[in-house]
Amino acid sequence: TERTLAMIKPDGVSGNYMDKIKERVLESGFKIRGEMLVQLDEGNATLFYAELSSKSFFPTLVKYMTSGPVFVMVLEKANAIADWRALIGPTDAKKAKITHPESIRALCGTDITLNCVHGSDSHKSASREIAFFFGTMFST
Ligand code: ATP
Repeated sequence: TERTLAMIKPDGVSGNYMDKIKERVLESGFKIRGEMLVQLDEGNATLFYAELSSKSFFPTLVKYMTSGPVFVMVLEKANAIADWRALIGPTDAKKAKITHPESIRALCGTDITLNCVHGSDSHKSASREIAFFFGTMFST
């Protein structure tokens, strides 16, 4: 079994998609091991996306991620990392609506910036991101 960090971004929370997304999570076989609603500030949004800090869209990303609370979840199941990424669909929600209409980003996202959800992309980032929000609660 495996854990990943799933996040409903500010547009997903303010658009009232939390219940619908949690329903998709549970019906897809994930167990929710932890969850938290939290308001990121500029400092922790910058840290969370540190590897993107040189990108031209980084200021836009930080502004977006701090525009309201996010809802983070620790999801657990076999193959959780890849399966959650598959369920959310492509980064660009505008494209997701065409190519992956059943995906979560097609449901609640808008475009390449406002894409309503996040998922860890590797074991390494899952460990880092879970520790980022939940500390030592979920070691290994
Ligand atoms: P996430 O890490 O949020 O799951 P991702 O792995 O699909 O998304 P990344 O390339 O890691 O995509 O980008 C992180 C976030 O930055 C995206 O989810 C999106 O909100 C924003 N973003 C990515 N590319 C662009 C872009 N070209 N222009 C504007 N915003 C972007």
